[in-house]
Amino acid sequence: MNENYKPLLSYSKEELTDLFKTLGLPAFRAGQVRRWVFSRKTDRFSQMSDLSKDLRAKLTELFARPKSGAEPAKLIANGSETVAAETFDYDDSLYESRVVAKSVSDDGSEKLLLEWRDGRRVECVLLRDDRNHRTACVSVQVGCAMGCVFCCSGMGGFVRNLTRSEILEELLRLNALLPQDERLTHIVVMGTGEPTLNLDALLPALAEATSGDGLDIGNRRVTISTVGIPAGIRKLAEANVPYKLAVSLHAPNDRIRDAIMPQNRIHPIAEVLRAADVFFHTTGRRVTFEYVLLDGINSSVDDALELARLLRNKTAIVNCIPYNPAPELPYKTPSNATVRRFVDALEGEGIQVKVRFRKGDKINAACGQLRWSLREKE
Ligand code: SAH
Repeated sequence: MNENYKPLLSYSKEELTDLFKTLGLPAFRAGQVRRWVFSRKTDRFSQMSDLSKDLRAKLTELFARPKSGAEPAKLIANGSETVAAETFDYDDSLYESRVVAKSVSDDGSEKLLLEWRDGRRVECVLLRDDRNHRTACVSVQVGCAMGCVFCCSGMGGFVRNLTRSEILEELLRLNALLPQDERLTHIVVMGTGEPTLNLDALLPALAEATSGDGLDIGNRRVTISTVGIPAGIRKLAEANVPYKLAVSLHAPNDRIRDAIMPQNRIHPIAEVLRAADVFFHTTGRRVTFEYVLLDGINSSVDDALELARLLRNKTAIVNCIPYNPAPELPYKTPSNATVRRFVDALEGEGIQVKVRFRKGDKINAACGQLRWSLREKE
């Protein structure tokens, strides 16, 4: 492996311009390359047709991923359509990952399982909805240390943080799944991992994603979801970044939250809500509380009423998410009637509620589920 390899996406605009200068190349060439990457969705140096052949060869030599000798990518067959993943891997690709699997769902969601140069894998998903939103859902870590009992991401434990270029690459790969005249409109940092534990990589990646000469996605269209680490929430409040915050609450009291989210034993609900208040007062942006509805655990009318008391007097919105079942786990999705009663009870108490209808169940879109189902067996 070429130890000095530094991928193109790890260079900021300024760093790339500097690098080009030291190579004796005019600064505007860096802009040209970035346009190919961010606006024209090119991932292959050979396709940057307004650059000379020599320069394209030079860029390939500098930035193309060193050969890993890995087996060619496999096909998978767990969506409504099966796609040959090899189609996504080229010798002159500027990407660091290779696509191990791609699955497509009837509702238009597409999921990629990417393998990095160290053999570690992450998932990312492109979601489409009827409002013409094209949303990228990205991972920030390989595995997860939070251990929420209903989530597949933590199965197998925490492995490592993703780098800024790896997070950016997830976004570019998802953007490239869209037709040439369409672009990503939204980002949700709701894949695998805990974003507030990897802000050093996440925030620079999001800066590229939202900059005018990057992916140009609207600032307010980026949502970061956290398990609820108070120090992380405060850091985000103070970072002076314009993104929205979602907090995974999932329970109306510490007894239930302790049982399903081990982090709650370290940072109980009151502490999480205090940090969320700081975020709201510092940024003026309303916090979304996510609430995954697990049958028989947190979805009764009494749970809804207790949740309403917890959030009374807060400028907040509750996003109810019927559990997306994973065969590896024993939890169940409540019936539609149970979901309805829960939502009605909250609304009856004056709480603003959204229900996130399930998407992508056919493509193992539950967090971490595809990675787990296609894990390398030891
Ligand atoms: N670590 C961050 C991001 C994780 S995933 C966080 O905890 O918020 C984004 C959301 O999906 C979280 O609210 C998470 O609890 C939820 N989630 C995980 N597995 C799920 C499943 N199988 N069905 C529905 N929601 C799930």
